[in-house]
Amino acid sequence: MTQDTSSRGLFGAAPSFSFEFFPPKTPEGAEALLQTIVTLQDFRPSFVSVTYGAGGGSRELTRAVVHDIQQRGIPTVPHLTCVGHTEKELEEILEGFVKAGARAILALRGDPPRHGAYDPSRDAFHHAAELVRFIRNWESRRSLPYHLTVGVAGFTEGHPDTPNRLREMDYLKAKIDEGADYICTQLFFDNHAFFDYRDRCRLLGIRVPIIAGIMPVTSASGMNRMAELSAGTNFPARLLKAMLRAGGDKKSLERVGINYASQQCSELLDAEVDGIHFYTLNRSKATLEIYRNLGINNYFDVDRLKSLNSLYKN
Ligand SMILES: Cc1cc2nc3c(=O)[nH]c(=O)nc-3n(C[C@H](O)[C@H](O)[C@H](O)COP(=O)(O)OP(=O)(O)OC[C@H]3O[C@@H](n4cnc5c(N)ncnc54)[C@H](O)[C@@H]3O)c2cc1C
Repeated sequence: MTQDTSSRGLFGAAPSFSFEFFPPKTPEGAEALLQTIVTLQDFRPSFVSVTYGAGGGSRELTRAVVHDIQQRGIPTVPHLTCVGHTEKELEEILEGFVKAGARAILALRGDPPRHGAYDPSRDAFHHAAELVRFIRNWESRRSLPYHLTVGVAGFTEGHPDTPNRLREMDYLKAKIDEGADYICTQLFFDNHAFFDYRDRCRLLGIRVPIIAGIMPVTSASGMNRMAELSAGTNFPARLLKAMLRAGGDKKSLERVGINYASQQCSELLDAEVDGIHFYTLNRSKATLEIYRNLGINNYFDVDRLKSLNSLYKN
């Protein structure tokens, strides 16, 4: 069974709750991901997304995972990066994703590989805005019987490649003007940065949903890896102090990270965030705990939340 993943299907129930997975490379990894999906499926995510290795390394793996999750009736959004791809390759990948059941794509530039042979002259596109335009053109040539939902990345604290923060917002706007339907942010720990980013988007006339990317710190080594991968993300003193208080105790560190992320989510929900996207690292425990801390028991009842929302708004 597949669900409607048109823009409405993805975001009809605000706020959306979604999970991000990466394609596993080993049979053990595949088994672990399956377990995670089975556990988190009970929370009826609005969608899940599956990362794509820039340059095409995980191309087939991403498609296969999208197919498997989509078969379980969960709307699935494959990521697609344009770095290292020709137009023909991008068309083939899009075709594969759509055949696997995807009705939405997260369109990204990706980062050029730091090591190994990489020939940028092969690249059809240099920025995600061009990929969004390409996807929209492909969609209309392909005459798909539904609207393909296209998401793009946002960086609440700025992308390191563009130190000019005004120009960066223009580049973000270009992605929306080319036809993107929503923005999903890089992980962040500072809600003020998110709220300010949301305000700056609205000032520029960007009206699409902005989904907040959340990833709990669960270990000191994990935090160092996050700092590396999400270059530019600020680690507030409040988080660092709490981690220091936990000392080297693994369980306490995990609890601190989960509590911090729970408070972040609670504040975001109070501020009517459009959606929360959990970077799960293919594990369910931290996300599950956050749901529990938010008071969301067992099945997350979207319809109930919607009626509560309307109760307070009327
Ligand atoms: C939610 C999310 C999911 C991600 N998933 C993946 C994934 O699955 N696989 C992966 O490899 N990476 C992924 N990434 C990382 C992402 O690919 C990198 O951060 C990349 O550097 C930026 O991608 P982008 O789509 O924002 O690029 P762009 O929007 O193209 O921006 C990249 C940089 O170029 C600048 N820029 C944009 N347009 C112009 C222009 N016209 N002229 C000059 N400069 C310009 C921007 O300001 C920015 O600094 C993800 C990031 C996020 C936030």
